[in-house]
Amino acid sequence: MQENPELEREKVKTHLCANCGANMVFDPKIGKLACPYCASSAEIVSDPSAIVERDFYSFLRPENQRLQPMAVDAMQVSCGSCGATIVFIPPESARQCDFCGAKIVAQPKSSDPLVAPESVLPFSITNKQAIENLKQWTSSRWFAPSKLKTLAEHDRADSIYLPYWTFDADSNTDFTGQRGDDYQETEHYTDSQGKQQSRSVTKTSWSYAAGSTSRHFDDVPIPATTSVLPKYLERLNWDFTELVSYEPAYLSGHRAQVYQVPLEAGFERFRQIADSVIRGDVNREIGGDRQQIDSMTTDFSNITFKHLLVPVYAGAYKFKGKVYQIVVNGKTGEIQGERPYSWVKISMLVLAILFVLMTVVLILGR
Ligand SMILES: [Zn+2]
Ligand SMILES: [Zn+2]
Repeated sequence: MQENPELEREKVKTHLCANCGANMVFDPKIGKLACPYCASSAEIVSDPSAIVERDFYSFLRPENQRLQPMAVDAMQVSCGSCGATIVFIPPESARQCDFCGAKIVAQPKSSDPLVAPESVLPFSITNKQAIENLKQWTSSRWFAPSKLKTLAEHDRADSIYLPYWTFDADSNTDFTGQRGDDYQETEHYTDSQGKQQSRSVTKTSWSYAAGSTSRHFDDVPIPATTSVLPKYLERLNWDFTELVSYEPAYLSGHRAQVYQVPLEAGFERFRQIADSVIRGDVNREIGGDRQQIDSMTTDFSNITFKHLLVPVYAGAYKFKGKVYQIVVNGKTGEIQGERPYSWVKISMLVLAILFVLMTVVLILGR
């Protein structure tokens, strides 16, 4: 697959308003670039057929690693507290970390070249909707500390794209093992009264098994972020059929996190996931009632990968020394998060109930 350098350069241009020259931002409501100052909007030309799967091993060769920044004018800043690196196009900025809530004091610098994303799931939930969902979510949670409410009330949920890898591969596995077939046998024994009894017991006869099995893996997603809690990442479901080819315009007015899991490490994680799937295949292949795998050798071929960005609104706050994260799915508006209990509020409610009870007792006693 030959990538066109001219096309690559074309992709990293800035997006200015044709009418007033201001920086346009990607507006999830209309799915286009919109000017925050005049009513202008512009279509983002994104071709789904331009989403290419890149060959994994040939990409790893240094001469083939075409690294580039996410946009020519992109800046990046790293959180001194959790280490997340956040990319944005000015005038957008990053003063507070989306993942740990810490103030970012470092000066932004031009963004480093990296494995450029070739596809993106654009936001379809607006910041307003995300905040609205967040407010509903917090108000439906009793005893949530005021800090959580402040997070929602002060619009402290920022739109940020999270990095993912996806892998495709064909696998072929040779295996050896044992197949266990169960059978019933009648066993005779003497019971406590000294009587002869019989019972049926299950036994297993084991036989040698060997063979091979193959499978095609398609678009297995591997999160390239370690900043979002794994339990939230697991519950964020993405429809990869809605992917569009990456254009820097989608970054305009939003932020993106730089991948923390390098490509090779992402592939290792893919192998682990693939391995557990293949284990299931091998067990089915061995058959019988029980299986034991003695050896398993897997060759992966036609390995390709994609780097893509998925949209979330993220916010974090500290409560009693612990960081609490809230993540809103930028496609569906679904919220992942947990909130601490405010014991002050619970105590106050208990006191209020006691006060009411005492008043009732006093009135009734009169
Ligand atoms: Zn304008
Ligand atoms: Zn941080």
